[in-house]
Amino acid sequence: MSETFYYSSDTSSKVINYLKENSFLSEDDVKALEEKAKDGGFSALRVLIRENPGLMEKVGKLIAYLTNHDFFAHQEEIPLVEHELFKNGDAYKYGAYLIKDSGGEKLICLDPLHKDFTELKKEKFRKTPVLIMSHVTFNYIKENDDDLIKSAKSNLGKTTVKSKIEIVDSDDVQAADANAFVFNTLTECIKRDASDIHIDLAVDKQGQMGFKLRFRVDGKCFDESFHDDIMLYRGIVNKLKLDAGLKIDERRLPQDGRISFESEGKLYNFRLSFMPNTIRNAQEEKIVLRQMADVEKCDLYNLGILPYCVDLFEKAIKYPHGFICVTGPTGSGKTTTLYALLQEIDRVGINIITLEDPIEAEIPLVNQSQMFHRIGYDFAAGLRVILRQDPDIIMVGEMRDEETALKAFEASNTGHLVFSTLHTNTAASSITRLLQMGVPHYFISSSLKFVVAQRLIRKVCQDCRREHPDAKDMSKTIDDTFKNASKPVKEMYEDAKKNSKIFAPYGNGETCKTCSGTGYKGRVGIFEIMQVDDDIRHIINFEQGNEDKIQEIAEKNGMLTIQQYGYILVLQGLTTLEEVDNAVMSV
Ligand SMILES: [Zn+2]
Repeated sequence: MSETFYYSSDTSSKVINYLKENSFLSEDDVKALEEKAKDGGFSALRVLIRENPGLMEKVGKLIAYLTNHDFFAHQEEIPLVEHELFKNGDAYKYGAYLIKDSGGEKLICLDPLHKDFTELKKEKFRKTPVLIMSHVTFNYIKENDDDLIKSAKSNLGKTTVKSKIEIVDSDDVQAADANAFVFNTLTECIKRDASDIHIDLAVDKQGQMGFKLRFRVDGKCFDESFHDDIMLYRGIVNKLKLDAGLKIDERRLPQDGRISFESEGKLYNFRLSFMPNTIRNAQEEKIVLRQMADVEKCDLYNLGILPYCVDLFEKAIKYPHGFICVTGPTGSGKTTTLYALLQEIDRVGINIITLEDPIEAEIPLVNQSQMFHRIGYDFAAGLRVILRQDPDIIMVGEMRDEETALKAFEASNTGHLVFSTLHTNTAASSITRLLQMGVPHYFISSSLKFVVAQRLIRKVCQDCRREHPDAKDMSKTIDDTFKNASKPVKEMYEDAKKNSKIFAPYGNGETCKTCSGTGYKGRVGIFEIMQVDDDIRHIINFEQGNEDKIQEIAEKNGMLTIQQYGYILVLQGLTTLEEVDNAVMSV
């Protein structure tokens, strides 16, 4: 009699496919497992468990989940029933045992799709409910069956003894519902092009505890629905954690992960964040899912950029070495711009390394490195080792501290092209900030080639926009902004003014299907690109980077300010004046 339980090929492929689709196993891992399985004549799942005994519990839960059964959580006292069919080697044959609790007899099995088990169930246990156990429980019973039976018998008479069967941590009970909820939510997120999904615990007006679902679309959060089903909430937490390979039982510490989701043949990636959240004294978690950028969308021409801007960007990436800085508040699309720039570079013959936190999209042919602050791998630490990796181009996610800024500039001074971001409002103020951070003026003046300041603004819905009632006043405001502009900027303005119309959101106050009545649909970047020329270098070196003076000189030498850029888009009917002004004021 065999001393091994072989999983059915059905169950094996279900589990292996699930692990593959959720990136727990690579194609190569699966190939290796299948080859070993073929050699040994048993299933790939059996090989996986034998090589990774730590996965036993997880695989058990997964089988329960994938075959729509309840999971029998492992416990010390199992109310085992003596039965001749499951004695000795026969337990291996069926991978099952019989138990009895206050609810009656139940079968606990390893694989509900196993042929021997399904036949046995049909012939002898037609009406007996089935739970899934893990190999941990199976092995445990195998070793302790006599003791368990004895103890179960002696407990039988005591009415006070409660059942020890937990039909799963009540969590997996809702697995199917949670599955459907997650599927629908992700589908909706993609349909609406939402950047984030928030699933928060909440109490409604009647005092009922539940959770609410919100989507962030074009930078604004929208309340979607309230669900007074806390069990469903836990099911969702567990499903997402399982999918992302996170610890299900860890509720006191934040956890981050990633999942992929396929919709209409296209793969979408989401970043997951769990944070402890105490509500009514219960230790629960708040969930945020962020849709990761689609790197194909991050190209310069897709950013809705003005042609003059594209010319400058193309010039910026042709430098063999130097520093390109992108600046703006959080959520202004800085990373998207950096990705767009990297995408424009011919990446085949050169070595590009990025240090990111977090990696927001995968770029082909670029070596991306994720920071891990908890273990001391931060931007500064990354920069210390990166030069030994022989890079041509380096991207540093953000210059948050002095050491990072200094090291990044050092790298640009030793023959590398460096891209990074800062958190300032204007292109000119970033120079002052760098000086304040302790980067020597001679480093800045010799390396810095371009500073790009940017914001993301909402586009007015093209289907329900209407002419702005105050269009006349607005034209005047816009006109004033260009009064003292340089010649090339004035030319751009005059060009945009031809056939221009200034729009306001909300057509007729009716709900528009395109924008769901918000008046806006989609977003576009507005940019201010400052070229560091001789005049500006002079101010950096000899006038302590006087911000006002840099601004003045840059404008005189042909820089379009971020506000002017936005107003040109207003004249093109793409956005509204309010939207531009709000964005320019934001810090
Ligand atoms: Zn609309």
